Amino acid sequence: MMIKKVAVIGAGTMGAGIAGQVANAGVEVWLLDLPTEGNANALAQRGLERLKDSGQPGLMSKDAERLIHIGNTRDDFAQLADCDWIAEAVVERLDIKKDLYRRIDAVCHDQAIISSNTSTIPISLLVEGMPKLFRQRFAITHFFNPVRFMHLLELVRGEDTEPTVIDTLAAFCEQQLGKGVVPCLDTPGFLGNRVGVFAIQCALHAAFDLGLKPSEADALFGRPMGIPKTGVFGLYDLIGIDLMSDVVQSLVNILPEGDAFHQEAEKIPLMIRMIDNGQTGNKQGKGFYRKVKGGREALNLQDERYSFAPRLNLPLAEKAEQTGIKALLLDDSLYGQFAWRVLSRTLSYAASLIPEVGNDGLGIDDAMKLGYNWVKGPFELLDEIGVDLFIERLKADGMSVPRFLEEAAGSSFYRAENNALQTRQLDGSWQTIQRSENIIRFNEMRQTMTPRNTCAVASWYNLDGIALVEFHSKANALDTDSMEILEDAITHVEKEGMRGLIVHNDAQHFSCGVNLQGVRGFIQRNDMDGLDKFLDHFQKTVHRMATAKFPVVVAPVGMSLGGGFEVVLHAKEVICHANSVMGLVESVVGVVPGGGGCKETLYRWVEKLECGDDISEACWKAFMNLGMGKTATSPILAKDQAMLRANDNFIMNRDSILSTAINAINNPVNQKVFNRPTLILPGKPLFEEMVNWLKESHAKGLLMAHDVVVGTEMARIVTGGEVEPGTRWSEQDFFDAERRSFLTLASTDSTKKRIETMLDEGSPIRN
Ligand code: NAD
Repeated sequence: MMIKKVAVIGAGTMGAGIAGQVANAGVEVWLLDLPTEGNANALAQRGLERLKDSGQPGLMSKDAERLIHIGNTRDDFAQLADCDWIAEAVVERLDIKKDLYRRIDAVCHDQAIISSNTSTIPISLLVEGMPKLFRQRFAITHFFNPVRFMHLLELVRGEDTEPTVIDTLAAFCEQQLGKGVVPCLDTPGFLGNRVGVFAIQCALHAAFDLGLKPSEADALFGRPMGIPKTGVFGLYDLIGIDLMSDVVQSLVNILPEGDAFHQEAEKIPLMIRMIDNGQTGNKQGKGFYRKVKGGREALNLQDERYSFAPRLNLPLAEKAEQTGIKALLLDDSLYGQFAWRVLSRTLSYAASLIPEVGNDGLGIDDAMKLGYNWVKGPFELLDEIGVDLFIERLKADGMSVPRFLEEAAGSSFYRAENNALQTRQLDGSWQTIQRSENIIRFNEMRQTMTPRNTCAVASWYNLDGIALVEFHSKANALDTDSMEILEDAITHVEKEGMRGLIVHNDAQHFSCGVNLQGVRGFIQRNDMDGLDKFLDHFQKTVHRMATAKFPVVVAPVGMSLGGGFEVVLHAKEVICHANSVMGLVESVVGVVPGGGGCKETLYRWVEKLECGDDISEACWKAFMNLGMGKTATSPILAKDQAMLRANDNFIMNRDSILSTAINAINNPVNQKVFNRPTLILPGKPLFEEMVNWLKESHAKGLLMAHDVVVGTEMARIVTGGEVEPGTRWSEQDFFDAERRSFLTLASTDSTKKRIETMLDEGSPIRN
């Protein structure tokens, strides 16, 4: 069955999110909540409004918004009659849910699929007493918050659920909603929350017991472990200390008595006091951290006072980020003890869940990567640490070794065999990992391949005659070495007659820009020639890509910012993820895009506005995009901003991007010919107009002093600056202008200060 129309009941956090994502997929959806006095649809209306929140918009476009009909369960229940999927997302109360199911059963058509978003109620209880036909069409679809952005969907099958129901839901959620579907058994907490909340609790208690400050714990339980940098205290603040405590309590309620979770769930008196005082996290403006002018403060867990707490750069954390997680375990300082306590308990707990939750570690690993944004799942971490080393340390500490772990001694949980990745089963056999059609995760594929050329920050591979360049530095920052790898791949595609080039990686973000540390190095050495050469090389490399005689696809996911976006801008075709965020944000650190970004922004506006010879309007648009450091939060919005072109495409599921890119190389019908004619410049009059606008904005208090300086350089590039109106510039002239302005700005103290604060404090000074 095809799902053509959907209803979501409950327009709270999750229901509204699910409806938003269904609409993002281009499918009509009814969003119902309880009726209220006055405006009967007020609750559903509120849900819809939340989706439009500019901070983290649940909707990708106005078109998507038009696909959502709001209503209430009193007046609009009959709308369910022709819905193919009815997703229930009301409060976590069995009686309320069951009451709804009886009403749904009375109106829905007999092929309709019904699912619940419950986090804690077993399917057997949900469908108890319902007719067989209903039970056969019922499943749990457990989405994560925020629905548009969290990749994981746990799909739980009941005893009576028909396989076709699971297949239909899996296909719809994977291909149309773009979710990473992880099949789960009906076990408490399923996979993600069971292990994820356990890990968070472990880190919390370890920090309290060992006397670590929140900032110390977060510096360790973060990037060094391949966990988002929010850390543990930051995450508690983000979710809300009260809400998170409820989540913990709900797991306490459903997990069996002997479960190790209970040892990590004990309430902490300080946190009870914090909840009572309304000190519950970001929403209240204070929790474990609070923002203050010039940075943040953290709560001292002993005397309960706030004090200044900049983000810490612990040498051990940096070492682990560079050399791997083992560095944490080989350290016997307090920090090493913290890391070992968290990892030993969390990884053992994950292993102890086999076979209760499945026969191998793949589901747990997938759930942690897709639902908690871990870089590696627990079993991949065990492989990285070394199973034997881990067991040895557990034993030395007198900890018990779960059976699944014990049986992997001398071996691993994953292996590459016959060009495929396999996962260890409970009985010791190996099973090849099978993903659905079109799903390719490059981080898995890579494990079965050898790069043709590689360095610390980038590699390129031969994918059956297509060169694939992967960036893999911290935040995928770009430097000379990354550009050399890209250049080498281009050269080999040309020389060897390969079919084309793909630039892709499946890290959380495609690239957050040029390596700012490297730029600081040039500035500190006062090596402006070196900086100019670096920029020139960057420009030439992306230009070679844009003008190559073979198909080129850049396939980004997550953020493509600054230099990363300049690579995207020089693709002959872009195939990106629907949640891609892109833009040229250089102005915040006091420079201009120097890798063709200013030039491309201008050319794209000229193209989009079909300017002809008078490009003044395009100059203004480009100037505003660049000066404001505008980012687009979806490819649709990126097209509106001339950041993407009409032939650029987006895909709902980030795991389908690579297969789509391969198809696009094999069938290159969408490749853009990169034609960049000379442009007739508006020159001095428009340049002066822009500079005046900057000065006026500064006088009104809308811009900082250095914004005027940076904006002036952007105006200079897009208008030609002091040149006479009518002067013609070639593409290379714009490249040259970018480099000149970059170097000018890099020599100013204010830009140096912005770069330093960005690198040292995590955000740039406003000067
Ligand atoms: P919520 O409190 O934000 O929203 C629940 C909504 O249900 C409210 O708008 C409420 O008015 C409505 N409602 C209550 N009774 C109703 C009825 N009889 N008919 C129609 N609407 C009714 O809750 P939520 O966080 O969106 O959670 C919804 C479900 O999703 C729960 O089962 C929860 O366990 C699960 N869940 C929540 C999260 C999360 O992070 N919040 C994550 C995964 C799953």
